[in-house]
Amino acid sequence: MIIETDILIVGGGPAGATLAKYLSNSNVKNILIQRNLNFKKPCGGGIRLDAFTDFALDTSLIKKYVDTILLVYKAKTVHVDISQTPIAVVERKEFDGYLRAEAQKSGTTLYEAAFVSLEIFDGYVISTIKKEDEYLQIKSNYLIAADGVNSKIRKIINGESVPSNLTQYTNITSEHYEVCEFHFGKKVAGEYYAWAFPHADGTNIGTLAEYDRSYINNLRDSLAIEEQSKVLSYKIPHFKNPLFYKQRVFFVGDSASQVLPFTYEGIYYAMHSAKILSEVLIAKQEPSEYEKLWNQKYYKKFTTLLKLQNIFLMNNFMIFIMMRLFQNRHVQKQILNLWLGKKEVEINFSFFIKALKRFIFSQ
Ligand SMILES: Cc1cc2nc3c(=O)[nH]c(=O)nc-3n(C[C@H](O)[C@H](O)[C@H](O)COP(=O)(O)OP(=O)(O)OC[C@H]3O[C@@H](n4cnc5c(N)ncnc54)[C@H](O)[C@@H]3O)c2cc1C
Repeated sequence: MIIETDILIVGGGPAGATLAKYLSNSNVKNILIQRNLNFKKPCGGGIRLDAFTDFALDTSLIKKYVDTILLVYKAKTVHVDISQTPIAVVERKEFDGYLRAEAQKSGTTLYEAAFVSLEIFDGYVISTIKKEDEYLQIKSNYLIAADGVNSKIRKIINGESVPSNLTQYTNITSEHYEVCEFHFGKKVAGEYYAWAFPHADGTNIGTLAEYDRSYINNLRDSLAIEEQSKVLSYKIPHFKNPLFYKQRVFFVGDSASQVLPFTYEGIYYAMHSAKILSEVLIAKQEPSEYEKLWNQKYYKKFTTLLKLQNIFLMNNFMIFIMMRLFQNRHVQKQILNLWLGKKEVEINFSFFIKALKRFIFSQ
């Protein structure tokens, strides 16, 4: 038996569930499959608070609010006030479940099932899924890969894995941080950052540095954390070779590499990218419109943050410079505007060079 639908969405995380809801709201028939409905995505669960307004989300999902970021490098700490748009911390199992339930309320058919394989024909796709012990075939106009950083569909369609780093993290229940701390420096973070973020049930600490236990052990030591909680690993995508569409398959969220460089936020961009894709599908636009619209909205922001990451996290000397620059109120304002995308920010590198010169001559 073949089940027919307009759109089959694989993956019920923020990207897939958001897309399903928008499609259903516009009466586009869709099926959403999620391998395990009890899956808890390894994630800090930090989302810009304005996402709650953008997507009319229930604020009772918010476990904690964070209105200050601390940048830490060796003995130096810089406070950044983000009270204009705080970060909301959610618990991912509950959050993803809520998003899927919202999609179902709008008319999406949800199956607890795993994607197995696909065949592409002229004008449609046949996917095989495994639901309990049964293999089912679904015929759809398009297939959506919202199956995350380990995307099986990306491997099949593009012959490669999502470019990523293996993070290491652990949940500490004996500490309750109130602010998000970003720690820099080779010892704890390599060429990335390490973090200590408030979490639904305590504090989540971790590092984006390539897999090597010494980084997280150094982080634990520098934070003077004695609790020996279990260290886990999970991949996080780099914004590298983003993939939008190929052979009747659209990619969205982590499977498309839509994670913001430098901060490595993925939830907000998975949801907003899903919204862009829904608009293209609902209006039956050409598939290439998705990449075009996404680039119009985010390309400049993503590439600018990637450049800043490559420059400032290159080595300990540049981190030192970054910390000094961040003490400057105008630099903080520029970066926050860029992060929030509130207005068109020309990240003007001459601005940084002037700030740098001022810093050097003031020594
Ligand atoms: C340690 C860590 C901390 C992070 N912290 C933050 C943070 O604080 N804030 C933030 O914004 N981002 C954070 N991220 C990134 C964020 O988790 C992701 O970018 C985000 O979840 C992407 O959403 P998505 O829907 O694309 O993918 P996912 O959330 O990964 O959802 C994909 C879904 O697809 C399902 N699936 C996969 N394969 C199949 C299959 N074959 N069949 C059926 N279903 C399948 C999975 O079970 C999963 O539910 C963090 C990531 C890591 C690793």
